[in-house]
Amino acid sequence: MAKYAMVIDTKKCVGCSDCVVACKTENQTPEGFHRDWIVQQTHGTYPNLALEIRSERCNHCENPPCVPVCPTGASHIDKYSNITLVYHDKCIGCKACIAACPYDARYVHPDGYVDKCTFCIHRVKQGKKPACVSVCPTHCMYFGDLEDPTSDVSRLLKARKWKVVAPAAGTKPQVYYLI
Ligand code: SF4
Ligand code: SF4
Repeated sequence: MAKYAMVIDTKKCVGCSDCVVACKTENQTPEGFHRDWIVQQTHGTYPNLALEIRSERCNHCENPPCVPVCPTGASHIDKYSNITLVYHDKCIGCKACIAACPYDARYVHPDGYVDKCTFCIHRVKQGKKPACVSVCPTHCMYFGDLEDPTSDVSRLLKARKWKVVAPAAGTKPQVYYLI
């Protein structure tokens, strides 16, 4: 079984939002909703300030609180990829998963089901990268299998310092940020 993860280099991201546009185009997210977004965070004290830019999305957590709260089994971890997904036809739109997610990664689609990032699993199954990764002009996004020690993601996490968003939530995010 693969264990897919995304690694994003905050030292190379310029916040251009190409990833957000690519996702919207690829996944046809409805007007006013998105599966990924850009966060800008300032660290330090003036005049020693540093700006960190992050492309964020569902973290495909290893311990995802959005899954056990789902009353219908719609929200689940795909056993072949470890990606957290939602069966649209099983979802009743109760929003329990939205309340449980510490990252605000889900939204209710106008058609009544809950939607979010899928790591573009439809592309991954065809041997392609997620749409966001494929368009990044600074090549700051990497996607791959952490079970493969030779993958870009495994190699980068061994070689560089990294962090995840809100580690205290205990969800074990699988989107890593190089710092
Ligand atoms: S980021 Fe939120 S929606 Fe995604 S797996 Fe984690 S808890 Fe679930
Ligand atoms: S909104 Fe849908 S996916 Fe979320 S908990 Fe309810 S039934 Fe499950």
